[in-house]
Amino acid sequence: MREDIELELECKYCDYEETLYVPESDYNAWAGNGVPIKEAFDYLSAGQRELMISSTCDTCWNKFFPNYEVSDNRTVTLSKHEVVLDIDTVDAIWEIAHGADGWNREFPDNETIKVLQSFEKKAHMYDQMLELLGFKPEEDY
Ligand SMILES: [Zn+2]
Repeated sequence: MREDIELELECKYCDYEETLYVPESDYNAWAGNGVPIKEAFDYLSAGQRELMISSTCDTCWNKFFPNYEVSDNRTVTLSKHEVVLDIDTVDAIWEIAHGADGWNREFPDNETIKVLQSFEKKAHMYDQMLELLGFKPEEDY
């Protein structure tokens, strides 16, 4: 007999709730052994997987990211998470991090994140320098 476990999922942005029953072995593969969620739960919809990862339901996800279409061949895997982005967006992000044709030169996700984080650090340093010089850095939010 297959041992299923019950997952009670709820969206943190609205009242949406969903209960899923999945084999415990699949859950352990993902949560414990680092198998990408897309492989461990290939029978769930992308929306259900997103709900598991980020507690965001399909409706809210589409509200936050109205321009991003969810489809399998546009999936980029960032660490254990499945992040679905439009391929043009990914291309732009990789280009910012690595220069033109960055995406085609196949830099791994984690390296790209590191580069972007270093940009963020530099931006903060720049803000601090301006502050020392008596300028008020502009808030970007
Ligand atoms: Zn929601």
